[in-house]
Amino acid sequence: MGTEIRLTRGEAEQLIQNIEHNSGDASPIRELIGQAQVESVEDEDYITIKKEESPQTEGNCCICGSPGILYSDTCDECFAKWMLSTKRRK
Ligand SMILES: [Zn+2]
Repeated sequence: MGTEIRLTRGEAEQLIQNIEHNSGDASPIRELIGQAQVESVEDEDYITIKKEESPQTEGNCCICGSPGILYSDTCDECFAKWMLSTKRRK
């Protein structure tokens, strides 16, 4: 208890699908979503979360080629654009 897990609505729905796919009971999560207690994650938070989940390396961005810290082989700026385009597709 006390551990805060932040999910986007899409991720929460994915979680429900996974649980139910394995014959689990996802109704507590469904209830939470139904009560709209799953807060919508702001773009900046979303990018921050995704960065934490992504492997960090140093090198040149695979999209624009600029050197520096890379997240999943993309630089800060390209990573943000990439993640937002992924988010909006949902
Ligand atoms: Zn880049």
